[in-house]
Amino acid sequence: MSRRRQIYEGKAKVLFEGPEPGTIVQYFKDDATAFNAKKRGVITGKGVINNRISEYLMTRLNEIGVPTHFVRRLNMREQLVKAVEIIPVAVVVRNVAAGSISKRLGIAEGTPLPRSIIEFYYKSNELDDPLVCEEHITAFNWANIQELDEMTALALRVNDFMSGLFLGVGLRLVDFKLEFGRLWEDDDMRIVVADEISPDSCRLWDTKTNEKMDKDRFRRDMGRIEEAYQEVARRLGILPEGGPRDLKGPDIMQ
Ligand code: C5P
Repeated sequence: MSRRRQIYEGKAKVLFEGPEPGTIVQYFKDDATAFNAKKRGVITGKGVINNRISEYLMTRLNEIGVPTHFVRRLNMREQLVKAVEIIPVAVVVRNVAAGSISKRLGIAEGTPLPRSIIEFYYKSNELDDPLVCEEHITAFNWANIQELDEMTALALRVNDFMSGLFLGVGLRLVDFKLEFGRLWEDDDMRIVVADEISPDSCRLWDTKTNEKMDKDRFRRDMGRIEEAYQEVARRLGILPEGGPRDLKGPDIMQ
């Protein structure tokens, strides 16, 4: 795939050593997994689209002062990011009940929540990413109180910003997951948004029809998955040059 030294292979991405110290290249695969990799598949062109969508969203976030690890997109499937120490706690923000909160608490999917709800999940494949509370996070030193406050504040800002952005293109931001990392610059440390933000990590419903435009189409075998991801990119005005036919694209264009 590349002559670069591979650092890590995840479910949807591969990380390589970047060209300069302190940088990493994120390569977006078409592989899709759900239910902690119990369900596996390929969504053709997903890597190309998610690379674009994540670039777009992280760039907009950087512009409004939400720090992210994103530096620049390198090619169809790769982006350059700053190397961070990933905090092992995923942050989920929910605006409308769906997915695990509907199942766990018996709230009908589609019920608007009285206010945005933040949840924390401990990132552990062996444990299936269990829901945890702040006490667990600080007691087990996954993050300290200041870091947790910062992650919460950033997650709420991202929610406000992205809810408006998606609403503007006819999509409701039902929920999403963020990952955060510690970015060290000399002796200073900042918490930044890391990983990716894409239809793999957000629930997006068409505001008029409530049609699902995200990974739930894969999780629930609803079909037209590629089309949904493309439609999200199209509405954001960022379909790859040449339109959908570019999506299979060369894996790497250096
Ligand atoms: O499954 P659940 O309802 O808890 O998911 C909440 C949000 O977090 C969804 O947008 C889902 O796509 C995202 N998520 C994720 N990665 C996971 C689990 C959930 O991106 N491992």
